[in-house]
Amino acid sequence: METILTIENLNKHYGRVHAVKNVCFEIKKGNVYGILGPNGSGKSTTLGIILNVVNRTSGDYKWFDGKMDTHHALKKVGAIIERPNFYPYMTAEENLRLVCKIKGIHYDKVNEKLEVVGLLDRKDSKFRTFSLGMKQRLAIASALLNDPEILILDEPTNGLDPQGIRQIRDIIKHIASLGTTILLASHLLDEVEKVCTHVVVLRKGQILYSGTVDGIIANEGFFELQANDTIRLKEILQNHPAVDKMEDEDGKLFVYLKSPLEASELNRYLFQNDIILNHLIKRKHSLEEQFLQLTNHN
Ligand code: ADP
Ligand code: MG
Repeated sequence: METILTIENLNKHYGRVHAVKNVCFEIKKGNVYGILGPNGSGKSTTLGIILNVVNRTSGDYKWFDGKMDTHHALKKVGAIIERPNFYPYMTAEENLRLVCKIKGIHYDKVNEKLEVVGLLDRKDSKFRTFSLGMKQRLAIASALLNDPEILILDEPTNGLDPQGIRQIRDIIKHIASLGTTILLASHLLDEVEKVCTHVVVLRKGQILYSGTVDGIIANEGFFELQANDTIRLKEILQNHPAVDKMEDEDGKLFVYLKSPLEASELNRYLFQNDIILNHLIKRKHSLEEQFLQLTNHN
């Protein structure tokens, strides 16, 4: 799979604030990446650095295998990191034609991209008459005019009503289905869950998780167990290959797994080792619980 962007040990200090800490990740062609984290976790700073509008303190990033300098590479990147800003008294079409003129893009692209964002029928409306959602969609159309390899969006649904949010998410998924790689920053868990294939979870500038969205959801779960002899129970479980770690709480033993294990299988294994359980429940964390656990952990 082709690599679009590689980030290595990126750091950013704003005075005493260490906003980005040793961030590393890789973006491969065709995937949809989310940078997920609460406000102030360093999402916008990271995007600013790779787009060459924020100076890094240390570390490195490489666009397209480093075969191209950043200036040229960024011509193949479409990005919206600020509120959409166009000429208010010009129509949607006029605004996009102006962008084409400045960037040397064929005017044919204007209608094509207005269609992608569902604004073709509003192309003759003045920008100032647009809702925030429509303005954001126009910004997306504008960022797509040069058929970028990757589209970068910072909090694309901030401030929108539920319908506007839905439209933007559908458009992002549609653009991804057409083959454009996407990187978006969001503090919204459900946004990343609904739109992205991959996620980098950031907290205070540090990566807590990096991998597929499915991977963060599909953990193996954990057991809640109780037996008369907890010490013996622990000893026996220690030797089980599926067991990751164990925690005692209120006389119950919480057993976390590193590979799949059915309740019946575990029960049989313990029984064969002369342990009779008087309590057994299998549970799974939801994505939300896992995210909260990840982001609350010191
Ligand atoms: P996010 O986009 O995840 O909300 P930011 O990247 O905007 O996070 O901010 C990360 C940290 O860096 C925060 O503590 C923020 O206050 C700080 N920060 C961001 N931009 C600046 C700046 N221009 N000057 C000083 N501190 C900044
Ligand atoms: Mg931000």
